[in-house]
Amino acid sequence: MTERVYLDWNATAPLRPQARDAFERAVTLTGNPSSVHAEGRAARHTIEGAREQIAALLGAERADVIFTGSGTEANALALSPLIETAAEKQPRDKLLISAIEHASVRAGGRFARETIEDIPVDAAGRVDLAALAQALRTAQRPLVSIMLANNETGVIQAVAEAAGIVHAANGLLHVDAVQAIGRMACDIRARGADLVTLSAHKIGGLKGVGALVRGREDIHFAEPLVRGGGQERGLRAGTENVAGIAAFGAAAAAASANLADEAAHLRSLRDLFEEGLRAIAPQTVIFGEAVERLPNTTLFSHPGLKTETAVIAFDLAGIAVSSGAACSSGKVQPSHVLAAMGVSEPLTRGAVRASVGFSTTKADIETALNAWRKLAPALSKGSKEQPGMAA
Ligand code: PLP
Repeated sequence: MTERVYLDWNATAPLRPQARDAFERAVTLTGNPSSVHAEGRAARHTIEGAREQIAALLGAERADVIFTGSGTEANALALSPLIETAAEKQPRDKLLISAIEHASVRAGGRFARETIEDIPVDAAGRVDLAALAQALRTAQRPLVSIMLANNETGVIQAVAEAAGIVHAANGLLHVDAVQAIGRMACDIRARGADLVTLSAHKIGGLKGVGALVRGREDIHFAEPLVRGGGQERGLRAGTENVAGIAAFGAAAAAASANLADEAAHLRSLRDLFEEGLRAIAPQTVIFGEAVERLPNTTLFSHPGLKTETAVIAFDLAGIAVSSGAACSSGKVQPSHVLAAMGVSEPLTRGAVRASVGFSTTKADIETALNAWRKLAPALSKGSKEQPGMAA
């Protein structure tokens, strides 16, 4: 069988060797981390070590890290009207979410539908901060959720500026940093985030592990999401996934140790890919290219391209890419992100995402461009449409 080329790191990343080692060590631990005996203490010690590593990744305190069963669950925990601070014990009266958030944020957590409002984005996929300020005027104690980097376009949001606006309006800011960690510096205190969501499998940990991290210590949830044994300071009951958490910590440590080098490596491959796409098919549109983006993500389209056809053609050529909007049914859904950016429907229907990671090579990019070279000639014959935008 020919070697596969994996360019879908935003969907999930391969396990890092350091995470595999940590997993293998921890999976042999017998104890329940809540038990007081030596076996239990060994498991607890492993979890607390990983907590330290996750805190270090964000410049947070160890006590601020709450492990969850996924990034999705961390988002569901964060989006609660019953978040209190030292100064504010009343329930949050409004949830403001950007129009490009992941489905797990768009679901709104425990807020009633009628208390949720969308914040639009501009044509480049950046949250409209003037619209945010306007929407905050009608709230007393809002919670705002804005992602640090978008999973489809990779566009990075002005989180520090948003935090200033939100705090001036007596609000709290939740930041979904699932796609950003390991790809850019994520100092949550410097950016003013009050709560941050992470997911292990996007940085080379295991699937089914996440974390919600507090950016300030006086944040308190009056209601846990999962009740029971009181684990994770009462916020997430259930015996901890010790081996998964250990792997998460090791992946975080490895990602932060090599952050600058890895980011430079990703950027050079991404740029090579994008230059190649355009050299082969000059009408290629790369979404969000004019603004700050993650170094690893390309969301592109072309007049006449159909997402399903392209993803299958790449797959048959041995290359894994995706439609930006992955969905559990495996079907391609029209992207709510591109719709929010005002991209024309024909271009949206051809959107393909390629995302690279630490083990991607130049040869991988060349293989992907060879597949594009075979796909592209049919496009120029097939369509007279012009690109609607090139943000
Ligand atoms: N948030 C963003 C931006 C994501 O891209 C994802 C996963 O695709 C999630 C949250 C959900 O994370 P998990 O897969 O751990 O539930």
